[in-house]
Amino acid sequence: RGTVVLAATPIGNVGDASARLISLLEHADIVAAEDTRRLYDLANRLGVRVGGRVVAYHDHNERGKADPLLDQVEAGACVLVVSDAGMPTINDPGLAIVRRAIERGLPVTCAPGPSAALDALALSGLPTDRFCYEGFLPRKGSERRQHLRSLRFEPRTMIFYETPHRIDGAMQDLLDEFGPDRAMALCRELTKDHEQVRRGTVGSILASFQEDPPRGEMVLVVAGADPALLDSVIRKGQEEGGDAGPAG
Ligand code: SAM
Repeated sequence: RGTVVLAATPIGNVGDASARLISLLEHADIVAAEDTRRLYDLANRLGVRVGGRVVAYHDHNERGKADPLLDQVEAGACVLVVSDAGMPTINDPGLAIVRRAIERGLPVTCAPGPSAALDALALSGLPTDRFCYEGFLPRKGSERRQHLRSLRFEPRTMIFYETPHRIDGAMQDLLDEFGPDRAMALCRELTKDHEQVRRGTVGSILASFQEDPPRGEMVLVVAGADPALLDSVIRKGQEEGGDAGPAG
């Protein structure tokens, strides 16, 4: 039997490609790539010849493609799964083949490497002992606000992916739901020449947009709520309940 290998690819700096990724690109029997042109572009930049058959494996076909690829694994093939950048399955294709491999009792392993979420978390300067990955916020303003409201008392550091055309709206909603003083970092263009990390508060980072609107790929890392915030809200609620009299 062969195996499925999920492999992380660089998120900007091609030098982050691991020796193991390079060897897998050369030797895997099948490479399942989110975008085949981007795969060949990466291989060119690495000076690597992709040895195996290349198939497109993306959000729209991954459920249908998982079983045929796993049939090949059963027959002895090494199937390499790569996305456009970073770790497959993290807001990228890959989960369908992992789940089906588990269900079918087939081996699946990982060649780890870059992922924007952990890179941003480590650079943010915010607590890393407990964190939660939130991926992309909902696109619609009303859903985004509701989602952020549900996270207002989340005590762990939160990681969000964002895009340049939604960042203004997302930051405004963060300001409304979390207040201006919540600590955060905006991490842009990680591992690239113009990498930038802005550290401050929701208010100060939103204010910085006037002079320097953020461009490129970005991750927001937001401090968890101070447990005292929840305590004070509970206490206030109890006091208000108390004011309403014995029945309240
Ligand atoms: N699988 C990827 C990973 O492991 O990071 C994430 C893919 S997701 C479709 C793309 C998002 O990741 C971008 O919109 C951005 O939020 C974040 N991202 C990817 N590369 C980045 C970079 N170099 N700098 C900052 N954020 C990045």
